Amino acid sequence: MKPRFKSSALAEKEEFRDCLARWFSTHGRDYPWRRTRGPYEILVSEVMLQQTRIATVLAKGCFTRFLAVFPDVHALAAADDAALLKAWEGLGYYRRVGMLRETARAVIARHGGAFPCELPDLLKLPGIGRYTAGALRAFAFGLPAVLVDGNVSRVLARLMDFRGPVDETAGLKRIWSWAETLADPRRPRIHHAALMELGQSVCRPGVPDCAACPVAGFCRTREPAELPVKRRKMAVTAVDEHALWLRDDCGRLLLHHESGKRRTGLWKLPVLEAAQIGHLPMLAQHRYSITRYRVALSVHDGNSPGFSYHAAVGDSWVEPRMVPALAMAAPFRRVVERLLIDL
Ligand code: SF4
Repeated sequence: MKPRFKSSALAEKEEFRDCLARWFSTHGRDYPWRRTRGPYEILVSEVMLQQTRIATVLAKGCFTRFLAVFPDVHALAAADDAALLKAWEGLGYYRRVGMLRETARAVIARHGGAFPCELPDLLKLPGIGRYTAGALRAFAFGLPAVLVDGNVSRVLARLMDFRGPVDETAGLKRIWSWAETLADPRRPRIHHAALMELGQSVCRPGVPDCAACPVAGFCRTREPAELPVKRRKMAVTAVDEHALWLRDDCGRLLLHHESGKRRTGLWKLPVLEAAQIGHLPMLAQHRYSITRYRVALSVHDGNSPGFSYHAAVGDSWVEPRMVPALAMAAPFRRVVERLLIDL
C-alpha cells in the first residue's frame, strides 16, 4: 500500500533533501566509484554505466580492470585501439571507449591533464553532455549540479505525477527543471547518489517498493506502476546471423578482424550469408540483443565434407591459445570459448 501524499517536495525542499540524505546514509551501496573523488575515475564509471547495467560492470570487475590498465588520462590518451578494445571487452557499445579516449586527449590538450570543474568548460569536452558534466561536478568536485539519468527521471515523474512522455523535449525540460529545483547545493554528492539509488533499489521500474520509500510523503502519484510514460518504443527486429567455424590442419581457428562501424577493431568468427553456410551443420547457437535487434547467432561447421571457403580481407588464422588476448564482442567470445573446449 502506497503511503499518503503529505506535502510537495518543491514546497518543502529542505525536508525532502534531508529525508533523502538520511536514508542514503544507511542504505547507500558501496560501489567502487563511490570510493573515489578523482574526476578521471568518475568519468570512466559514468561512461561505463551509460549503457551497461551496474551488476554487469561489478560482476566482471570492469571498472577496476580498466583503471589497472589505464590509470590516468595520460595512459588512456596514449592507448592504441587493440588495448582499448580489450580493456572494454564485455561492456558492449564500443564507440564509448573511443570517445572516452578523445575526452582524455582533450583534457590534456586544453587543460594540461587536469579536469576543469566549470560547467561550460566541461561541456566543451568531446563526449561530455549535461548529465556527465553534472556527475563530474557533483561526484568529483562536490559542486552544485543538476543531473538526470533514467532512474532519476522515473523518481521525479512519480513524485510529481507527471503523465507526459519523459523522453520527449517538453517532458525532458520539466524533469530537468524539477531536478534543478530539488538539487541540494550543500550536499551534491549525497543528494544525487541518493536519488539515483532510490530509483535503482526502491522506486524501481514496474511496481516500486513505496512502503520502503523515504520520500513517500512527498510523492503525488497514485499509480506509480504506470509511470513514467515513454513515447512508443521502436519495434524489435529479429535478425539471424550465420558464423563460420573453421579450423586448419594445425588446429588454428579462422577469425575475422572487424572493420565495420559498429564493432571497429574487434575480432569475431567470419559472418556470412545464410545462403553460403546455412546448410552446414550447426555447432552452437547463441541469442543476444543489441539496441533494437534480437540476434540469433548460429555457428556452422566449416570443416564439413565438401565445403570450401576462401579467406576474405580481415580473416586470419589464429592459434587457440591466442584467443583470450584478442578483443572480442561478448556473444562471439561466448561461443568461441565454448566450442574451443567442446571440439
Ligand atoms: S517509491 Fe517512487 S512511487 Fe513510491 S512513494 Fe517513493 S517516489 Fe513515490
